[in-house]
Amino acid sequence: MEKTLVVIKPDGVQRNLIGEIIRRFEQSGLKLVALKMMQADENLVEKHYTIDPEWVEKVGKKSIESYKKKGLTPPNDDPIALGKDVLGRLKKYITFGPVVPMVWQGSQAVEMVRKICGSTEPLSALLGTIRGDYTPESYQLADGDERAIRNLVHASGSAEEAEKEIELWFEKKEIMEYRLFRDSIIYDKEWDV
Ligand code: GDP
Ligand code: MG
Repeated sequence: MEKTLVVIKPDGVQRNLIGEIIRRFEQSGLKLVALKMMQADENLVEKHYTIDPEWVEKVGKKSIESYKKKGLTPPNDDPIALGKDVLGRLKKYITFGPVVPMVWQGSQAVEMVRKICGSTEPLSALLGTIRGDYTPESYQLADGDERAIRNLVHASGSAEEAEKEIELWFEKKEIMEYRLFRDSIIYDKEWDV
């Protein structure tokens, strides 16, 4: 069973979408094992996004590709410079107000949660995903205003990343181990025999 970190970002809290976002994960069959509301500081945001040393470059590359795919010119050709800008903006964005970090557990939890959240840019995220349903936000809009993309939620990108991120946001004792009776329908081999 995999665990993954989700953080409802300050725009998700301000838009009163906490309940709606949690509902989607609950109904997916994943199990909630940790949850709190807190104020993040810049140090935490920096640590969080630099867990993967290649993140800065990856973010820059992803953004440049998205511009090119739409036939637009990216604001910067250098992925590292663009990635560093994004990190600076994320510090402002994520520390703006309270956030709601949580841990969801289940089979393929990382992939399930990424699917429910949708892709990074809300404008190109599919309908039916959290990012695709609730905001018309785009790379163009965010970069034009020199701010981070306001996409409502964070979700870990891999199981490895998730493990480190969970350690950063939660103490061990805050993570629950318990049985959900519902899970026998989802996982038990013997359930329907
Ligand atoms: P995620 O895993 O889908 O959240 O995306 P990343 O890890 O690549 O980026 C982290 C966060 O940085 C995103 O969720 C956005 O809030 C923001 N972000 C990423 N790329 C860009 C960008 O090119 N421009 C701006 N303005 N913000 C970005
Ligand atoms: Mg990421």
